Amino acid sequence: MTRITLFVDVILPLPVPGLFTYRVPFDLNDAVAPWKRVVVQFGRKKIYTAIVTKVHDLPPKNYQVKYILSVLDTHPVMNEIQYRFWQWIADYYMSEPGEVMNVAIPSALKLASESKIVMNPNFSGDFDALNEKEYLVAEALDIQKSLTISEIENIVEQKKVIPLIKGLMEKEVVLSEEEVKDRFKPKTETFISLCKDYRDEEKMRSVFDELEKSAFRQLEALMAYVHLSGFDNGVAGEVRLADLSGKAKNISGPINALVKKGILISEKKTISRLENFTAISEVNDIVLNEHQLQCFSQINEAFKDKKVVLLHGVTSSGKTEVYIKLIEEALAKGKQVLYLLPEIALTTQIINRLRKYFGDRVGVYHSKYNENERVEIWNSVLKFNSKDTSKNQIILGPRSALFLPFQDLGLIIVDEEHDYSYKQFDPAPRYNARDGAVFLAGLHHADTILGSATPSIESYFNTKIQKYTLVELKTRYGDIQMPEILVADVKKETRQKSMKSHFSSFLLEHITEALKNKEQVILFQNRRGFSLRLECETCNWMPECKNCDVTLIYHKHNNQLKCHYCGYSRRVPERCDGCGSTHLQMRGFGTEKVEDELAIFYPDAKIARMDLDTTRTKHAYQLLINDFENRRIDILVGTQMVTKGLDFDNVSVVGILNADNMISFPDFRSYERSFQMMAQVSGRAGRKNNRGKVIIQSWNPYHSVIRDVIANDYNSMYSSQILERRSFKYPPFYRLINISLKHKDARILNEAAREFAMILRETQGKRVLGPEYPLVAKIKNFYIKAVMVKLEKDEKLSVHKKEILIAIDRFKGSSIHKSVRVFLDVDPV
Ligand code: ADP
Ligand code: ZN
Ligand code: ZN
Repeated sequence: MTRITLFVDVILPLPVPGLFTYRVPFDLNDAVAPWKRVVVQFGRKKIYTAIVTKVHDLPPKNYQVKYILSVLDTHPVMNEIQYRFWQWIADYYMSEPGEVMNVAIPSALKLASESKIVMNPNFSGDFDALNEKEYLVAEALDIQKSLTISEIENIVEQKKVIPLIKGLMEKEVVLSEEEVKDRFKPKTETFISLCKDYRDEEKMRSVFDELEKSAFRQLEALMAYVHLSGFDNGVAGEVRLADLSGKAKNISGPINALVKKGILISEKKTISRLENFTAISEVNDIVLNEHQLQCFSQINEAFKDKKVVLLHGVTSSGKTEVYIKLIEEALAKGKQVLYLLPEIALTTQIINRLRKYFGDRVGVYHSKYNENERVEIWNSVLKFNSKDTSKNQIILGPRSALFLPFQDLGLIIVDEEHDYSYKQFDPAPRYNARDGAVFLAGLHHADTILGSATPSIESYFNTKIQKYTLVELKTRYGDIQMPEILVADVKKETRQKSMKSHFSSFLLEHITEALKNKEQVILFQNRRGFSLRLECETCNWMPECKNCDVTLIYHKHNNQLKCHYCGYSRRVPERCDGCGSTHLQMRGFGTEKVEDELAIFYPDAKIARMDLDTTRTKHAYQLLINDFENRRIDILVGTQMVTKGLDFDNVSVVGILNADNMISFPDFRSYERSFQMMAQVSGRAGRKNNRGKVIIQSWNPYHSVIRDVIANDYNSMYSSQILERRSFKYPPFYRLINISLKHKDARILNEAAREFAMILRETQGKRVLGPEYPLVAKIKNFYIKAVMVKLEKDEKLSVHKKEILIAIDRFKGSSIHKSVRVFLDVDPV
């Protein structure tokens, strides 16, 4: 044990600025090291898990240093590259290191807390070994399941009980509750094998003879083992006890007897919780076609110059096969691969395709997995060693997979790079995983490929200024034609009175035709303007949320009106709250309504709906997809979900029910977004089949965005949009930072927002817009006002960011603004 005085700098999982320094007790000097977790006290009472970033011998100057309480790990749980990535996220997205730690680390690794103390299950029960105060705590915990720190203070009638608790922890009497959760429990299973002495046929025969006379049940059990283990002249493997139980009833008794006799060996082993997949050996080797090959070599050419590649490939062009070839190359170099997908739950098809090809070298990091499974992936990525393991070498995941402890990334793929779910909204850091991926790849000297049929304007712009390299795949694989896109003119049909509710006769004719040919139909309605609201015909009153500034949405299945922001709900009223009239009418066009109306038009068709409501449970989405794939559904009605990466081979008609409300949404990205959605959903039409048809219903068939979709002309959309972005100072030419202020009192908020904008203008001048109420100006009883800052993209950017942070500090320094909450969003989408 070294007796020099050491200190550690740590990150706390809290939205507090910077790092904190703690002193190391001598007896932990040898145990501390960077990237291990330690338990520390922060504030008067609270205990947290912190991560050590540095061990040093410099005492902090301006505060009284506390001791760390314990070191949790024998080996580091993360690495330095990750920390550099965290620092970048914190800097770029103007958030605190602790906020990054909170999104980056699975909560099972974040022991400690608002701490509750529980009895340690390993406690021997030896109360005599405890001193008086320790005894009091142990006794109380014998009766109560858990105690908070302040309850313990009351029980022992003293303040500062942490050392006492620490002593109890060391004696293995208590644990903090999070620690119990934290103790990542590996899953174990019992395996049965044959003792060495019996591994020959002669010996076994005599055992069989012996058992046959006296112990028939044991004989039966042994036979079951022999059968399952493939015993053959002395060679016998391990068998799961669970499998043996499947062979004969109540087998564990006889098995135990055989173990006691020394014939069998029973062993508990840690097994992986993650499903095992082995590559199917007869998977045909992928042979790229001429276009794919050309694009493959262009990509490799660009990688040689360490350029980020944007792969612009039309839907169904076979981008995934190109990715697979790139993954193979990276694996051959012994590197790790990260494959990012926008919403993992919606991409089971891709997972299956990759698993078929790479077996259990593919690991999936899934937000719906439980904590233990997440920790298992974490550990296997951390311990990756190209020499002795290849499991989970390729990680498929949503944006949070960026934070895994990669050792040696060779390739990052960002599939559907234009997708907005790469951006985290809440809580901070509000990062964009696509941009994070490019930075992370830089840290690992890895290659990056962004892929999409409808690239984001930002990424496409980066190819124009030679920051990224553009590679294109313009034809569909197998020479399948792009779908034919037609417009149903809703204005004209309304005039001719040929609309049936929300369906044009043009669309209905095509649906009828498809059904007649036993082909399938997808109907897409974007979420906005999708919902059904109640309105009074007499006075136009609409029921609103009492906590938020939005109208309530009708839900038919439980006949309720519901707020989609806070969950507030009320029964559908009989009378108008305003005028008492009973003439209340539904307005809008819900998925449920589309489904109901279609059922009237097509009584024999099987119709299903795919939206947030019908896919809440873990498997619901997959079931819908399976049913549709297996043609148990004729018409699938859905939201954005139906646009994402699905590959069906019998869809001949795709209908876009209301293009106009997407296009007219008040946002500078609405044209880009509408183009992306329409082009993506069109891509679901006519895959392996004949040429598919897409029918767009619109009041304005000659709108430029609709014309660009019809012509499949991304470049035309891009060129017109990029001009607007430049003249109105939007990205990619300017960087936006959205700062929202929230408070329960609208008056205080207004005053505060005005003053904040003023402070901000002192340094940022005309770059500051607002304050203004956003589209939804009140959520969960908090009023919101936002200020937008538009910054030039030049070397002064970081200076501006610093000035903005200083302005926020100054603003918060004034006591009346203490209660105003400030949220920062860099590069809002
Ligand atoms: P994208 O991701 O560009 O929309 P996909 O990768 O899904 O396109 O490819 C479309 C279809 O063509 C898929 O069914 C895929 O299996 C098939 N395909 C693409 N390239 C090949 C290839 N080289 N060999 C065999 N099938 C391919
Ligand atoms: Zn009314
Ligand atoms: Zn609400």
